[in-house]
Amino acid sequence: MSIEEVQQRIYRIPSVLGRRRFAQWLIVGDERLLLVDSGVDGTIAEHVSPALAELGRSPAEITDVVISHADVDHYGGNSELRNVAPQARIRSSAQDRPWIESWPEISRDRYGWYRGHGLDYDEATWEWLENAAGPDTPIDGTASHGEQLDLGGIAVEVAALPGHSPGHLGVLHRESGTAIVMDAVLERGLYTTDDELISPPPYASVPAYHATIARLRELRPARLGTSHYSPIEGEQAVTAFLDGSEGFVADLDAAVGAELGTDPKPLAHYWRAADSALGPFVEMAVELARSVGAHLDYAVEEGRAERTDRDGRAMWAAA
Ligand SMILES: [Zn+2]
Repeated sequence: MSIEEVQQRIYRIPSVLGRRRFAQWLIVGDERLLLVDSGVDGTIAEHVSPALAELGRSPAEITDVVISHADVDHYGGNSELRNVAPQARIRSSAQDRPWIESWPEISRDRYGWYRGHGLDYDEATWEWLENAAGPDTPIDGTASHGEQLDLGGIAVEVAALPGHSPGHLGVLHRESGTAIVMDAVLERGLYTTDDELISPPPYASVPAYHATIARLRELRPARLGTSHYSPIEGEQAVTAFLDGSEGFVADLDAAVGAELGTDPKPLAHYWRAADSALGPFVEMAVELARSVGAHLDYAVEEGRAERTDRDGRAMWAAA
C-alpha cells in the first residue's frame, strides 16, 4: 500500500494489521519530519521506511515522533525507530509514558487490569501483545497540550484527547482543519477492512472520553485522521463519526444501567450483558469490560450505583 497525501505536507501511511485498517501519519516540514505513532514492532521496516522512500526521503530524516498513546500498536516500533532514526526525538504524554517504556508496567496495569475482575485475554493474545510491543525502549521526553511544533513551512499543535488512554494525544493542523486523533474517538468500535464490526471501543474514563468528543466537535475539523479507519473527510462525515462515538457511550451507559439492581454483581456480569446488547464482539471482546468498568465508576460518581468488595472482588449494585 502506498503513502497517501491527505493535505499538502500531511501524509497517511496505510497498512493492514490482522483484519483491521492501520495507519501512521507523517508531516513533512522543510526542516523537520514528524511521525505520529511508530506502529507495532515491524511497522517501521515494513511500512514507514518504504513510505518515506516513495517520497524520496529516508527514515534517518525523521526528527520528531509523537506517540499518541500507550497501546502496543502505537508505540511498538520505537525500538526499530531508534536504529533507523537515531536523532529522532520520541515523545508521548507524561501520563502514558511509563506504560510506553515498560512492558512489565503496561502488562500489569493496562492489559492485566481485567485480571483483578477475573477476566483476561487468551494466551495467543498475550503473546501477540508482547511481540507487538517490541523491546522496552526509553523515550526522550513528554509532549503536552497546546505545544506548537514548527516544522518549517508547516506548524502543528499537540492536543490532549484523553479517555481511550489517560494521556492520549492528537496533532492538529488548524490551517487545513486536519485533526489527527488516532484512537481518541472510536465510533462504535473497530472494523475489519470489509467493514465488519469486530472489536469494542475501550475507554477508561467516561467523563474524559465524553469531553474529548465535545472538544473535537468544538474544533469543527474538516477531517479526522485516525489509526484504524479510512480518512474521515468533510464536516458531515466528521459529525457522523463523533455522533457514532457519543451514541455508543449513551448506549453502553444504558446497557450497564439496566443491569444495576439490588444484588451486587461483578464486572463480568455487566460486561456479558453489554456484549450481548452492543456486540457480540468477536475480537479483543474483553476490552469492552474496560469501558463497562468506566461506566460503573461513572454511575458510582453520579450516585446511581454502589461499589462493594466481596472476597477481594469488586461488585456493583444500584444505589
Ligand atoms: Zn489504542
